[in-house]
Amino acid sequence: TSGGGQLRRVMDDSPHSDSAPRRPAAPTRRETVIGIRSELESHGIESPELEAERLVASALGVTRHTLATTGSIPLAVDQATAVALAVGRRLDREPLQHIEGEAAFRNLILVSDGRALIPRPETEQLVDWIAEWAGTRPPLGRALDIGTGSGAIALALLTEGIVNGAVGMDVSGAALDQAEENRRRSGVPRDRLELRRAGPDIWSGVSGRFDLIASNPPYVADPELAGLPDEIRDHEPKVALAGGPDGLDVLRLIIAGAAGHLNPDGALFLEIGAAQAESVCSLLERDGGWADVRVRADLAGKPRFVRALPAQREAR
Ligand code: GLN
Repeated sequence: TSGGGQLRRVMDDSPHSDSAPRRPAAPTRRETVIGIRSELESHGIESPELEAERLVASALGVTRHTLATTGSIPLAVDQATAVALAVGRRLDREPLQHIEGEAAFRNLILVSDGRALIPRPETEQLVDWIAEWAGTRPPLGRALDIGTGSGAIALALLTEGIVNGAVGMDVSGAALDQAEENRRRSGVPRDRLELRRAGPDIWSGVSGRFDLIASNPPYVADPELAGLPDEIRDHEPKVALAGGPDGLDVLRLIIAGAAGHLNPDGALFLEIGAAQAESVCSLLERDGGWADVRVRADLAGKPRFVRALPAQREAR
């Protein structure tokens, strides 16, 4: 056929004629992913296939979709170097999001570099619950996000139109720098999000009342820190995790002060440790400033979120 003739011409023009010496072919993108997949698997990393794809895609600066459709392209030398570097970091148990430099949270893509806790799927669920509650009420004014970290909760509330303004507080200056970067990335105007340094007692310097107070505070009990996965223990800020001897230090401070900083129709939403629901409910009950305390489970079925409404003044 005429097709056969064309094929022969292409082969004759090829630089790799049969007589030329050949270097061993560089592995293709697909072969690289397969190799890394088994390397990650043998190091006990969960979801090795997904992680291999994400590591290679980010090292090459392409999307996973592009990677999948260009699998037959061989890796260039500098690309192989970048991939090896990324895999080495992951085998040192650095979180994938730090290597990619980004973490997804609801509709946002936030910076992820170790200055603040990587936003978690559980915390997305906390925002779900807040959105549900807010949907039953007149538009909310100002929210307070205690321990804002990356700014994830405050920025989601703002970009999803759940609140009109927010204050994000953190004891960590590095976290506040990252939150400010995330604010700019997310296109939230400066006058909608006030980021400020929290003192160790949280409430000094906080004035006025809010329609919503939300927090994913550090809640890991000190004795449990050592048992956290390497990725968390060695690569995430301890100040975002460590909640004192029983993990409740910051939750106690929040519960003690929040009712006095909420409008009467406002609400407090907290993320808590999987074993803390009973303790947190009794802290809320004993405080006397709270009514209608509810607990909600996370996707794993663990009681993970608490919502409390301020008690009406008459009842206090
Ligand atoms: N959920 C976190 C973890 O993975 C803890 C976050 C926190 O203390 N707020 O351990």
